[in-house]
Amino acid sequence: MIPRKKTRQVTIGGVSVGGDAPVRIQSMTTTHTRDVEATVDQIQQLAELGCELVRVACPTEEDARALGQIKSRIKIPLIADIHFNYRLALIALDEGIDKLRLNPGNIGKKERVVEVVEKAKSRAVPIRIGVNGGSLEKDLMEKYGPTAEALVESARRHVAILEELNFEDIIISLKASDVPTMIAAYRLASETFPYPLHLGVTEAGTLLRGSIYSAIGIGTLLQEGIGDTIRVSLTAESVEEIKVAKMILEALELRRGVRVISCPSCGRAEVDVFKLAEEIEGRAMKLKEPMTISVLGCVVNGPGEAHESDFGVTGGKEKGMIYVDGKQHRVVDEDKLVDSLFEEIKNKRPSAV
Ligand code: SF4
Repeated sequence: MIPRKKTRQVTIGGVSVGGDAPVRIQSMTTTHTRDVEATVDQIQQLAELGCELVRVACPTEEDARALGQIKSRIKIPLIADIHFNYRLALIALDEGIDKLRLNPGNIGKKERVVEVVEKAKSRAVPIRIGVNGGSLEKDLMEKYGPTAEALVESARRHVAILEELNFEDIIISLKASDVPTMIAAYRLASETFPYPLHLGVTEAGTLLRGSIYSAIGIGTLLQEGIGDTIRVSLTAESVEEIKVAKMILEALELRRGVRVISCPSCGRAEVDVFKLAEEIEGRAMKLKEPMTISVLGCVVNGPGEAHESDFGVTGGKEKGMIYVDGKQHRVVDEDKLVDSLFEEIKNKRPSAV
């Protein structure tokens, strides 16, 4: 297990972040928050896949006033994303949100900052300071350019405002869209602040690019023990963010999940391995217990991998063998392979389905 840097633990709606807590998975909805039905529906889909903290945008008063209704219908902590409008922050707090994403230096007058921070403190609501490479202060851009130093210096200013008000339930993110800057910024932040760090590559891109950039950026830092929560930002459905985030944590063995081991297929395959693996991966995402499932196109490597897996499928001529606990179990037609595999999983591990 990778040793993790100790940060000051905070609690978000009952979910601990930092300290010795596991690395948490976050996502953000893509709905208008004021559309309560659509937002709740999306949050439930995210939670079902393993999202542990969810953030929603609050650009208007109508959005902020919808937070209480949303909160009452979901089971994971709700984070309100407020950029600078202190009135919206106060409404969000009154609606019972679990965390605020807000940069105190952007609010303006000191008494407004005090009002928001005191209310957050009285309700034990942490604040995430989110510095973004695309919106750095002008003087920092002139002094440092869009660098790790500028991101950390910007965060330091916001942190100082909260610390001055004796507020320490802080989480920090320093997002840049280029991976080397993002990595350097979080490394520097990890040496600078005692607070939990929320990792992400901002505007990482579409599903393929965004997944790769995030895996490299977030994965590099996690491997160094840096990071307490993660978000994979994708220009894709938000459920994809959860799938990729889980895979990053599983790849580094920071979390056990369902691992589908599949071969790349080749001229020896006599079943459609791509289709088979895609279908199995999609359904396996919803399983509730860790396990390994191997999907191999032929008997060359199939039995060997299946032998090491909890469940397996090996292709033959328009048929396939289902493996359970590493042993051959039964032969089924190709078009029944996926359903048969999940029947066996349900028989053997009913609590996982
Ligand atoms: S398991 Fe069989 S089909 Fe898959 S890559 Fe290996 S040899 Fe090819």
